[in-house]
Amino acid sequence: MSLKGKTAIITGSTSGIGLGIARELARAGADVVLNSFTDKDEDHALAKEIGAEFEVTARYIQADMFKADQCRALVEKAGACDILVNNAGIQHVCPIDEFPTAKWDAIIAINMSSAFHTTAVALPMMRKSGWGRIVNIASAHGLTASPYKSAYVAAKHGVVGLSKTTALETAGQGITCNAICPGYVLTPLVEEQIPDTMKKYNMDRDEVIEKVMLERQPSKEFATVEQLGGTTVFLCSDAAAQITGTTISVDGGWTAM
Ligand code: NAD
Repeated sequence: MSLKGKTAIITGSTSGIGLGIARELARAGADVVLNSFTDKDEDHALAKEIGAEFEVTARYIQADMFKADQCRALVEKAGACDILVNNAGIQHVCPIDEFPTAKWDAIIAINMSSAFHTTAVALPMMRKSGWGRIVNIASAHGLTASPYKSAYVAAKHGVVGLSKTTALETAGQGITCNAICPGYVLTPLVEEQIPDTMKKYNMDRDEVIEKVMLERQPSKEFATVEQLGGTTVFLCSDAAAQITGTTISVDGGWTAM
């Protein structure tokens, strides 16, 4: 499968799943645009590294996915968008009656609304070339819920709904839109939840991973960023041309239970 000549924009791709997806798309030959809200030398260096490793054009474009105009500017600045991966996301864990409004607003904006804004700008570009792939990174929490993750669960269910609508509006135009629903993947976003969970349940790190995090993941293994990258590359392949408006779970069996 070669994605040579395609330009892929991956939001929130300086770490974790986004970076894993960017690397696998580059390995498949796509030119990649990395993104985060920071503008550090390391961000640009990371793009340079990927470009050199996979012999593709790799750029870093700073844009804060919390802000509608910056989401739209990201795609405009990239100048081309054949593959759009809406991946940026944050988490906050707290009961609804104590959930800070600012955190709710940030999670809804970054995890859900950003995908609407980038898609809105990318679609005319994809329609012009008659080919496009939109891959939205939802979550097992886009299909099921957990307590204390109200904003995250609401946003991820929203992303699944947006993916279906995008698929219907692009059907028959050479464009597909799907949502990948990962279970737990050991990334900085998940690492950050470990210390608080250790305190809350009076457990050590290994117990938190086994008894809390992977409790609902029957395989008892984390999914990896490489597996999510591979799933994204598959969704960009010809074999997946009729897969649209659906979800693909990469969750070790979580949603089978
Ligand atoms: P991560 O914290 O490792 O990476 C998140 C990325 O998003 C980083 O590059 C960060 O810089 C970027 N980001 C954060 N706020 C941003 C903003 N305002 N604007 C632009 N970029 C921003 O997290 P991750 O675990 O790799 O998560 C990536 C996606 O996968 C998220 O949407 C998350 O909800 C989803 N997901 C993760 C897991 C998991 O277990 N890790 C499971 C299911 C779904």
